[in-house]
Amino acid sequence: MERLAAKIRNIPDFPKPGIQFKDITPLVKDPATLRLCVHQLLCPFLGERLTAVVGMEARGFIFGSLVAWELGVGFVPLRKPGKLPYEVQAARYDLEYGSAALEVHVDALGPGDRVLLIDDLIATGGTAAASCRLIEGLGAELAGCAFVVEIDELQGRARLMPYRVHTLVHY
Ligand code: AMP
Repeated sequence: MERLAAKIRNIPDFPKPGIQFKDITPLVKDPATLRLCVHQLLCPFLGERLTAVVGMEARGFIFGSLVAWELGVGFVPLRKPGKLPYEVQAARYDLEYGSAALEVHVDALGPGDRVLLIDDLIATGGTAAASCRLIEGLGAELAGCAFVVEIDELQGRARLMPYRVHTLVHY
């Protein structure tokens, strides 16, 4: 995972003082590292029955769609409020910086779906926990969650119990 870590840039005090922002844009710009990252994200779930990948706006869209493409399944976006045009379900959550909400189309998933949740980073786990609530609220089963980066000290993983959590680079 050192190859991945070498392409993740730390930006101190962004978007506000005290936050060490993990910038994944150098990683996604480099084709070999991007490919390695996508394969590592999906590796533990290979061979399992999956019907979709779910990704959170915005960086979850990058990794989530590539994982969906590799797995040969569809992609379901979780978006910030007011962006999805059809009927939605919403979940509020707290961020490492601020609070927010995510929405999903009510017909995006349902019973019989078994999905993998993908985002670039897990910090406090609030975003992912809200996403899990949305997925299960639509009646789908969550196979697990995969993140490129985990900020260990914020213990987001604990908020996702009992779901499977797979992460690649730890800080
Ligand atoms: P959390 O809900 O606290 O786990 O925050 C995770 C979400 O916020 C992810 O969608 C990340 O993209 C973003 N995020 C939180 N903290 C950081 C950070 N230190 N660097 C980059 N992105 C972050």
